[in-house]
Amino acid sequence: MGEFDLIDRYFKRPARRVALGVGDDCALLAPGPGMQLAVSTDMLVEGRHFLSTVDPARLGHKALAVNLSDLAACGARPLAFLLTLTLPQANAAFLGAFAQGLWALADAHDIDLVGGDTTSGPLSVGVTVMGEVPTGLALLRSGAQVGDELWVSGHLGEARLALEAFRGRLSLPESGFAAARRALELPEPRVALGQALRGLATSAIDLSDGLLGDLGHVLTLSDVGAVVELGRLPRSPLMSVQTAPVQRQCLLAGGDDYELLFTAAPQRAEAVSAVGRTLGLRLTRIGRITGADQGLQVLDDAGRPIDQGDFTGFDHFKRGVA
Ligand code: ADP
Ligand code: MG
Repeated sequence: MGEFDLIDRYFKRPARRVALGVGDDCALLAPGPGMQLAVSTDMLVEGRHFLSTVDPARLGHKALAVNLSDLAACGARPLAFLLTLTLPQANAAFLGAFAQGLWALADAHDIDLVGGDTTSGPLSVGVTVMGEVPTGLALLRSGAQVGDELWVSGHLGEARLALEAFRGRLSLPESGFAAARRALELPEPRVALGQALRGLATSAIDLSDGLLGDLGHVLTLSDVGAVVELGRLPRSPLMSVQTAPVQRQCLLAGGDDYELLFTAAPQRAEAVSAVGRTLGLRLTRIGRITGADQGLQVLDDAGRPIDQGDFTGFDHFKRGVA
């Protein structure tokens, strides 16, 4: 199978949302009047972001999901995406499954694949997403205000549990491992939530590198501090059988959660909760925004500040999944 057969067979479908899709030198798309184009890209590299044993359908899903998560964090509505593939060989079984996982998520979000590039080499998958957001309404990392409440969607830490189980550093019951692995390999980007938070949240970021690290970006760009209450962090039932240090590591520095972390004024708390009810998505207040001089504090159940070095010390390896 040659390069162009491969593209035709797996990655070319009539565009539904854009003026011109795959096949020409450029794709053509037009954001609606009064809209800004939101663009983001993320790549997944074998051995760094996924294991060689990953189900190709899940890889197809995740490559698009992590990018849609960035659009979600900006409050943008997805329009289209580009796909850059480096493949060791044109393997039909791999490509068929990969394309199926990719298209399933693309269909779920009604988004067109409008182009890309395909070369041979070590396996890696790059996706560039494009979305639209009403001018001035994008959710930014820089908007958090002193006094805002800090919220997170879903629950945290399951993807990290799966990663540690893969590494042989903890054990999970079989059903628990399957659930954690699903969280790692099939994240659900919070696209509807991001759009619902326009004009409601003051800042937002998606959690890809772990709660404290990603919160740090918001604090830096907003020039504020924060208090996070460990006991409030939403955790899955899988977490309860783990030791306290493992739980802290997974919750605070887990990575690959793809939930949204956002801030909102306290007067908007009921409106935020209503969004969660409408979407059937758990939204939890986990702390609040303080002055920059307070830095980032994490409080344990007794209200004592936790030494944040304690759990970074738990991680002897460089993160395998970023
Ligand atoms: P060019 O030489 O103009 O860069 P290519 O030969 O690389 O074009 O690609 C031909 C067409 O196929 C282009 O429209 C390109 O966007 C599209 N394409 C290439 N690889 C992919 C892919 N992996 N997924 C979707 N479209 C692709
Ligand atoms: Mg090209």
